[in-house]
Amino acid sequence: MNKTVLVWFTNNQRVEDNRVLEAAIKTGHQVIGVYCFNKRVYELNQFGFKKIDRFRAKFIQKSITDLKTALKQKNITLFTFYDLPENCIPSICEEFNIKDIYIQQEWTFEELSEFEIVNAALTDVTFIEVYDQFLFHPDDVPMAFSEVAEVFTVFRKICEKKSKVRSTIDIPVLGASNFVDVETKIPSLEDLGFKAFEQPAHSAFPLEGGENAAKKRLEHYFFKTKKLGFYKKTRNGLIGVDYSSKFSPWLANGSISARYIYEKVKLFEKEHYKNQSTYWMIFELIWRDYFKFISLKHGTKLFLRDGFKERKYEWQMNHKAISQWINGETAEPFVNANMIELKETGWMSNRGRQNVASYFAKTMKQDWRIGAAYFESLLLDYDVHSNYGNWQYVAGVGNDPRDRVFNVKNQAERYDPNGKFQRTWLQKELF
Ligand code: FAD
Repeated sequence: MNKTVLVWFTNNQRVEDNRVLEAAIKTGHQVIGVYCFNKRVYELNQFGFKKIDRFRAKFIQKSITDLKTALKQKNITLFTFYDLPENCIPSICEEFNIKDIYIQQEWTFEELSEFEIVNAALTDVTFIEVYDQFLFHPDDVPMAFSEVAEVFTVFRKICEKKSKVRSTIDIPVLGASNFVDVETKIPSLEDLGFKAFEQPAHSAFPLEGGENAAKKRLEHYFFKTKKLGFYKKTRNGLIGVDYSSKFSPWLANGSISARYIYEKVKLFEKEHYKNQSTYWMIFELIWRDYFKFISLKHGTKLFLRDGFKERKYEWQMNHKAISQWINGETAEPFVNANMIELKETGWMSNRGRQNVASYFAKTMKQDWRIGAAYFESLLLDYDVHSNYGNWQYVAGVGNDPRDRVFNVKNQAERYDPNGKFQRTWLQKELF
């Protein structure tokens, strides 16, 4: 063990089934980890939002606290910093004479830019990048990225027929000599620029960050309550914790892997039963993969106004309209209730997201990228591919072959027939 290798944790905040960590351990060298709370993303961006607002900040902070403990149990030290990555990564490389950095492979513009800034500050260091955020590993999907179909169903059918989900892996406990007994601080919420807060009692996501919480949630949703068996019927719900799995915040920062969830669905099917609902959970995980593959195909077009389709619409940027949408002050109570839920909790259901995004882009005709940037800031489960891919889809510049406009009044009648959801968030307001 004469050499030390570094695992730079980003959106792979777990120990179990972590292929980046596995690759580092397989070298047989000493393994240390680092996580950088990047100062840049806790500052205001050009649209006046912080890239990470208080909900995700708290979630990540808990997640990294758990990760540090879980790694310690494997005799691996996690160094944590609140700094710019181009400061803390080179400094730890220098201290431990690091020549190899193991990292989850990313491909979107900002993630790559961060990476390039760090790379420029390093000399003689090799990055070993591992794709670890998929259900189907890109090597197991029989098509080049350029050939990924523009229609989800085509992609899904090929994957279902021709690709296999890889098994999850266990991470071994390393020898005690691997551990470096140096304590670095995890920044508090206050250090990150936020006041401490509690989620409102009526939040649909009253759960906390970290690998343990993710597994506990899965255990509850699949095996304790068997809600998985009804998922297809309840997934369009709006109220409460159990209408859908709520896995997305943990999936987004990698506290749980899609492969782990897949294996547990298969276990449920073996131990209990298989039905449309158990299949639908996997179906949705394939949607998640699809947005990743489509973003691999289209590169920076993910963020361009005209989208993958290069479709020209007359987008507006009306500050009053945007502020009304953000603050839940539009003419539509159903939109308002969803937007207030997001503002107060960092969560919104899939049904809600489709409606508010359609209303923003198709009815108010505001530039969809502003809506997407606001979601990026607030959402607990922000994921670059799912967020920008879904926004494009709803705004009519992405992969929706139908290019629909949601009728939010009809949607409210159908999904909130007695107005309970709207009353929850609008309280005294009239609707
Ligand atoms: P479940 O219904 O239990 O589904 C299980 C898992 O399947 C989810 O955790 C998620 O990983 C995946 N999934 C389900 N629906 C979708 C979908 N439409 N697209 C991609 N993956 C899906 N999801 C994110 O994870 N991050 C985002 O930033 C995000 N932004 C969105 C923005 C808009 C405008 C819209 C319409 C949807 C967005 N979604 C996003 C997708 C979807 O709304 C959430 O994944 C879902 O609501 C999460 O709840 P859940 O975990 O209970 O999902």
